[in-house]
Amino acid sequence: MPFLHHVVTTLRIITKPSVVVPSLTVRSVANINFAKLRDAGYEGVVIDRDNCLTRPRQDDLVPSLTDAWADCRKAFGPDRILIVSNSAGTSKDASFLQAEALTRNLGAPVLLHEAPKPWVVKSILHYFAALPSLSSASVSPESKTEATQSRKPAPPRLVVIGDRISTDIVLGSRLVGSFSIWTKKVWQEESFGVRVARLLEDGVLAAVTRWRAWRRKRRGLESEDDAGRMFVKDEPIVEEPAKVTWWNSIIS
Ligand SMILES: [Mg+2]
Repeated sequence: MPFLHHVVTTLRIITKPSVVVPSLTVRSVANINFAKLRDAGYEGVVIDRDNCLTRPRQDDLVPSLTDAWADCRKAFGPDRILIVSNSAGTSKDASFLQAEALTRNLGAPVLLHEAPKPWVVKSILHYFAALPSLSSASVSPESKTEATQSRKPAPPRLVVIGDRISTDIVLGSRLVGSFSIWTKKVWQEESFGVRVARLLEDGVLAAVTRWRAWRRKRRGLESEDDAGRMFVKDEPIVEEPAKVTWWNSIIS
C-alpha cells in the first residue's frame, strides 16, 4: 500500500511539521563522530542504505566511507547497528538477496520488514529489545529510573541516520529519545520521482525551520542552540565523482 503510506506520512508532516527537522545535519556519514554519540549515551544506530552508505541499489560501501563505517562499528559494535532500508530487506528485495549481500559486505544486520520507513518503529524496537547487551549494563541511569517507575523497559536511545527527510528523519521523530542525523550528500541520483521528492522535502524543511525561528523570536526566545554540532567530525573526505546516469546526462 505505498500510496496509503505516502498519504499517512504527508498527513503526519502537515499535522506535526517538527517531525521533518533533524537533530543534526551533516555532509555525509564521514562527518559523524560516532564515539562521541556513544559516550553521550546513545545505545544503537539505525542507518539507511541507499545514498547513505552505498550508491542506490548497491551492496558495497562507498569507498570513501570506509574509515567512518569502521569508526561506527568500533563505537557501537556490529549488533547495535541496524541497516533499515526501504529497498533491501523489503518485498522489493527478492529472496532478500540484497539484504544478505549487504550484511556480508558491511558486517551489520539488515532489518527484514514489511511496512516502509517511517512506519517501521515496532520492528526496530523489537530488534533492539532482543539484544541482551541493552537490557541492563548499557541503559543510562536516567532510562533505568524511568523504566523502574513505569515498570516498562525504556526504549533504547538510538541514532537514526539517513539521507531522506520523509523517511529517515520522520522515522527518527517516531523513535522516542532518538537523535536523527540527515546526511545531505547524494552519492548518485535515483529516479525522477525521488529527485522531485528531495526538492519537496528540502522546501518543507526550509519552511518549517524558518517558521520555528520566527516563532521563537516572536516569543522572545533565543534561537535554537546547535548542541548537535559536538557530534560533527569536520574531517574533509575524499570526493568521488558521481556516476553519470542516463537521467543525469539528459538534464545536465
Ligand atoms: Mg536513502
